[in-house]
Amino acid sequence: MRIGILGAGQLGRMLALDGYPLGQRFTLYDPSGKPSAGVGDVIPDQEGLRLKEFLAAVDCVTYEFEHLPYPMVEKIGRHRPVYPPAGALRVCQNRALEKQTFHDLGIPTAPFRIVNSAAELQNATAILGCPVVAKSVTEGYDGKGQAVLRRPEDAHKAWAQIGHSQLVVESFVKFRRELSIIAVRGIDGETVCYPMAENMHADGILRFSVAPAPDMDDATQKRAEEMIQLLLKELDYVGTLALELFETDKGLLANEMAPRVHNSGHWTQDGAVTSQFENHVRAITGLPLGNTDERCPTCMVNIIGETGDLKDLLKLPYARLHLYDKEPRPGRKLGHVNICADSYEELGWRAANVASLLPGSPEFHYSTR
Ligand code: AMP
Repeated sequence: MRIGILGAGQLGRMLALDGYPLGQRFTLYDPSGKPSAGVGDVIPDQEGLRLKEFLAAVDCVTYEFEHLPYPMVEKIGRHRPVYPPAGALRVCQNRALEKQTFHDLGIPTAPFRIVNSAAELQNATAILGCPVVAKSVTEGYDGKGQAVLRRPEDAHKAWAQIGHSQLVVESFVKFRRELSIIAVRGIDGETVCYPMAENMHADGILRFSVAPAPDMDDATQKRAEEMIQLLLKELDYVGTLALELFETDKGLLANEMAPRVHNSGHWTQDGAVTSQFENHVRAITGLPLGNTDERCPTCMVNIIGETGDLKDLLKLPYARLHLYDKEPRPGRKLGHVNICADSYEELGWRAANVASLLPGSPEFHYSTR
């Protein structure tokens, strides 16, 4: 099939790289003017004049980022099948709708309120109890558009700093660790889930994912699968969905979801039988889904801002480098390294070694140890 991808960044690149062995073709539509995918046929279109040409070149359409104009995706859906469906995109690109969907499905979250002014933010902060996290309803990612409030009186400053007309404000969760579950649903409703990953962030950016999350009990994995299945069904979902969770003393709380392949699933390229990218391609083209079992304990280390000299890293027999062919810039995701090991102990040593070779990387640590 001829697959169209909205967006031409690293996720589009990795979708294509894992879709080629299945005999698929890729055309990437780039509204940003800065395509970096480096594979497939790229249609740059900052002016929005080449959509027709893009649609003529593809049989179905998917996307690699969720901050797309909803009317455009809806319009595309009238000409070609769009997976995941535009309705799922609408929910995922608005934190208020997303939180409300979790709530309506009985998926637990931190207590939250939706506020439309600084005064409402102050009031909600007093009701929820400090500290709280305020987040813009739209456009936030990697911790952007967010502020932690330690007193209700911080509301006016936080409101001005975030600079949006609507915010979600929620209790600050004292989590044990951050987890994510990734699931894939086919056109026929077949669903598969990956083992959960444990995720470590610094400055709001993911730095390490370890999968399967160490010390994970079957009941918690099963609970996460139940939560994501509810979402897949509700959204009539097709493709890969990621759900970010907090593990707390009282169980799992949902934080947010992403309607696409996800950074916390990059470990599947080397650590799972079928990668999240291949399974996304299988799902949207109506193919049977691939096995999601892990091959071994795996750690994904993100390369952020600069790569440094990668020669020493390339000499390591256990490290697999994935570069995105992007210009270095502070805070930018330039690539990642997947590390496989026979035990978590060995994985810890190997991940620490890889992190020490990457400039600016925090030291490797598990959030639980
Ligand atoms: P988000 O953009 O919602 O994924 O938030 C980015 C990061 O901020 C998360 O991965 C957490 O580390 C942290 N965070 C977000 N919401 C909360 C919360 N309610 N309580 C504690 N930490 C949070």
